[in-house]
Amino acid sequence: MTNFEIQHKDLMGRIGKLCTAHGYIETPAILPVINPNIISIEAAELKHYGAEMLITNAYIIYRKQDLREEALKTGIHSLLGTDMPIMTDSGSYQLYEYKDVEVSNAKILEFQQRIGSDVCVPLDIPTAPYSNRERAKGDLDVTLNRLREARNLMPANEQANMLAGVVQGSTFTDLRADSARQAAELGFDLYAIGGVVPLLESHDFARLVDIIIASKRNLPLNAPVHLFGAGHPMLFALAVALGCDLFDSAAYALFAKDKRYLTNEGTKKIGNLRALPCSCPVCSAHSVAELKESKDLLASHNLWVTFEEMRTVKQSIAEGSLWELCERRCRAYPSLLDALERITNYSTLIEKYDTATKRPFFYLSHYSAHRPEVVRYSNRLNRFYVSHSVLITTKEEPGEEKFDHIFLVKPPFGPYPVELKETYPVGQSEIPVTIDDEARTVALQNVVKLLMMNKGKAKFVFRYDNSWEGHPLLEEISKHVELMENIDLHNLHR
Ligand SMILES: [Zn+2]
Repeated sequence: MTNFEIQHKDLMGRIGKLCTAHGYIETPAILPVINPNIISIEAAELKHYGAEMLITNAYIIYRKQDLREEALKTGIHSLLGTDMPIMTDSGSYQLYEYKDVEVSNAKILEFQQRIGSDVCVPLDIPTAPYSNRERAKGDLDVTLNRLREARNLMPANEQANMLAGVVQGSTFTDLRADSARQAAELGFDLYAIGGVVPLLESHDFARLVDIIIASKRNLPLNAPVHLFGAGHPMLFALAVALGCDLFDSAAYALFAKDKRYLTNEGTKKIGNLRALPCSCPVCSAHSVAELKESKDLLASHNLWVTFEEMRTVKQSIAEGSLWELCERRCRAYPSLLDALERITNYSTLIEKYDTATKRPFFYLSHYSAHRPEVVRYSNRLNRFYVSHSVLITTKEEPGEEKFDHIFLVKPPFGPYPVELKETYPVGQSEIPVTIDDEARTVALQNVVKLLMMNKGKAKFVFRYDNSWEGHPLLEEISKHVELMENIDLHNLHR
């Protein structure tokens, strides 16, 4: 059973403590990828950046005789020169990329165990996005058989090495769900979502959201989830918000090789930079010209910014502002904005994971109208009991004492009893004065909901100021007035 303790939660994201044979690490965590053939930044040095765990490819070590022999003799930690926990990948990526893996699932698992990997990964079959269904299903069946074999070879609770259950299924969300469900039934120490690298490369982030959600909702809540191949810092807020805990980064080195400079909002060509917009140890001590000339400096900057972003994500979980961070990051790219839009489709699900009380939120854009707090508020409108005469108003005015109940309307929440004016979340959340239509729409939908719930129980007056004029839902509300007879639609023009 996994030793994973969740300490803070926000949206579906969490800060956790994962126990490995080489000590505890804090999640969400980014695992730099170490290629034992070309070590550019030494494992010991990676600690300075903030690395707590590494990932390497067991197949690359296995394939090369001298590396294999040394790893078997001294162990993977000694080979890489670190005492940090190490996760080993099995060669699935090579299988996907070069189709030349000459090792069986059992063999590579046994090898990972013998070299002392902290997290072993079975040899799953990644299926490319948008493959045909038959292919995706066929590959998934093989992956599931290999997971079964892996669990038999490495029974739970019998060894120090952890075992990861990989989720595949291409872009078919039902296959992803099935894959996750069956992996969860077998029971793994952690789970890994694979086969998404081509989606990341093509910036198909909305589809990535679908895949993560389909997987996550079928995986155990108390196990960490690794998102394979998502090493770009601009994705961390989004992926963590959806419940991913572990990431690997080869990106820092790959982008550097390609003369690309990572930022938490995207990628820049180093050749196009006039100045370095970063204050990491590399950028503070070197010029643009020096970074243009040195892949190592560029890789080092990329790594600093990668760890910085993960710390920012963690801080926002701790303070309950992950949605705001996600919204800000997703504004950097149209394809990330598509992903944010897609997340709002899952607001009801996310609301179930989200902690019920946190700090007041800031309304940043119309996406904020679909935050879990707003969904939760709408779900709880049935807690308000009303009778006799009720005023629902967008503005407080004198002379309202004659009503038995007064509800104020605050976008995007909608109606709330005036007594709750100072309380969380409605009273305390900060909303801009110039509010957008989406927030008004959600607010008025909740007015309609309140009216429908209390049909026949009270006499309602709905009063709105002229900033609401022309909203199509006002007509809907007036329709209910006619239907319900006891609602009086009263328009104050001023
Ligand atoms: Zn920098």
